[in-house]
Amino acid sequence: EKYVAGLDKSSETFSSRMNALAARYREIDDNYFEELENILIMSDVGVNMVMTIVDEIKKEVRLNNIKDPREINEIIADKMFVIYANDSIMTTKLNYAKEGLTVILMVGVNGAGKTTTIGKLAHKIMEEDHKKVMVAAGDTFRAGAIDQLAVWAERLGIECVTGKEGGDPSSVIFDGLKRAKEAHADVLICDTAGRLQNKVGLMKELEKMNRIIKREVPDGPQETLLVIDATTGQNGVNQAVEFSKITDITGIVLTKMDGTAKGGIVLSIKDMLNIPVKFIGLGEKIDDLQEFDLEQYIYGLCH
Ligand code: GDP
Repeated sequence: EKYVAGLDKSSETFSSRMNALAARYREIDDNYFEELENILIMSDVGVNMVMTIVDEIKKEVRLNNIKDPREINEIIADKMFVIYANDSIMTTKLNYAKEGLTVILMVGVNGAGKTTTIGKLAHKIMEEDHKKVMVAAGDTFRAGAIDQLAVWAERLGIECVTGKEGGDPSSVIFDGLKRAKEAHADVLICDTAGRLQNKVGLMKELEKMNRIIKREVPDGPQETLLVIDATTGQNGVNQAVEFSKITDITGIVLTKMDGTAKGGIVLSIKDMLNIPVKFIGLGEKIDDLQEFDLEQYIYGLCH
């Protein structure tokens, strides 16, 4: 809460200063950039970052022959926003249980890349954090989702707990929890159905899953990751808003970042929801999942 207030204040201060600056200059010139640097520094952006940002903006201005200072306000604001958003809570680290089983619930609409992301995430957790991973095929709704997850599990050499297509997803999660405990797994990643069109149904389903998880793992699920297709732009942002009303989201995975030039959705999501982007998907292969990296992201935005 403290963080949200700080963010609002920072962006307000920044935008009002920027608007005042734009009102004083008809054309962008050297003096303008000097004032811009001052504003950035006054807004607590580190000096090195200020230089980088201003350099990038100078390049952009030259390249696109931008004259009107109002045109670059938005570009700068976006860059500023990323920095503020990442200052405080934007950790990409997964929250593991102090001891015993960690449960990760994956949510998101069909086609966002949930199943693929589970495969990639399981691989990452195994390789980098050296944990024993299991998956539970809780998306009993989408045709083929169970098989698709089972194929990933086979490739990874891990156990996939499944139920019947059309069956009760919570009972799959229940079985998954039991099996994971029996087999002393460290992490259970649970797929879920993404029926956002049936919001009440989805909410009840997720509530039930959460109840069942809490019975077996009292401080679980340690993560509820929302998978969003970055190429869907504003639509993806809206989905994130809707999901956050239905259940507590602890982090976002932005998939298909390889298919979008700007990825400005990162900014919008943080602006709207203040939920950290923890991972980005950069392709369909097993190691095409990365922790969200601020510097890389800014770099991507500026180029
Ligand atoms: P689900 O319905 O949410 O489980 O979505 P899937 O995991 O089946 O993914 C839908 C499609 O998006 C598949 O063709 C995936 O291979 C593809 N996909 C998933 N993540 C990425 C990504 O990061 N980049 C690209 N280019 N494709 C992806």
